[in-house]
Amino acid sequence: MVLRYSFHQIEEKNPLISFEKICVTLDIDWACDEIIEHSIKLLEEYDVTATIFATHESSLLKSLDRKHFEIGIHPNLASSDNYEKTIDSLLRIYPNSIGVRCHGCLQSTNIFRLYIRKGLKYDSSTYIPLRENLYPWWRLKKLVCIPFYWTDDTMFYSGFSFDSSQLHLSNNGLKLYVFHPIHIFANTQSGEHYRKLKSFYHQPDKLINLRGKHGGTQTLFVELLRYLQEGNVESYTCRDIYREWIRYSKDEQ
Ligand SMILES: [Zn+2]
Repeated sequence: MVLRYSFHQIEEKNPLISFEKICVTLDIDWACDEIIEHSIKLLEEYDVTATIFATHESSLLKSLDRKHFEIGIHPNLASSDNYEKTIDSLLRIYPNSIGVRCHGCLQSTNIFRLYIRKGLKYDSSTYIPLRENLYPWWRLKKLVCIPFYWTDDTMFYSGFSFDSSQLHLSNNGLKLYVFHPIHIFANTQSGEHYRKLKSFYHQPDKLINLRGKHGGTQTLFVELLRYLQEGNVESYTCRDIYREWIRYSKDEQ
């Protein structure tokens, strides 16, 4: 893929790039199936498609309808002494994955080269909080970087109230939301709340009793799903965004 525009020229063309799309993504972070299922049921109830970044083998994730749910991989490279082995083991479980978001957002040029060598097409590990007019970009000419706009843990650590204005839905550009099934399930409300429930991470029967009673992460997740459903706003997977960016890049050549 040869780009006609330098980075600087693309920046100048910014007003012409319109990426008015919303993506809902889940980082699984080793949650058990019962906890993941809670998020999946909400997505199904509101008929919202999503991209799910998987950390481990899950019979639930493997059984999902690929028309509505895209599965990418979510390797923990910061704790890995062999990046290639870690990525290979996830790709063996989810061989059709074309996307990756690294747990903890770890990234480097060598990691991007490894993704490309493994056949991955896009990376979504770059966090650009609440920035307007976001759109993807190329890295090493072969990897599409799809930035994320909003994440649930930033929200509950910030201490803001859990009303829908905190989703910043009126900003222009690509808005990619990151949620974690554990925080949806527990309706996590603050860093302190998360510290309390963390020791029951894999015990949904105990977590239920520790669920946030009022506003929390699930509140905002449902607000987002309701906004999409009631406004008839289409949600996109990261794979859709990747394809759109490929189309855009070809048109520009
Ligand atoms: Zn993660």
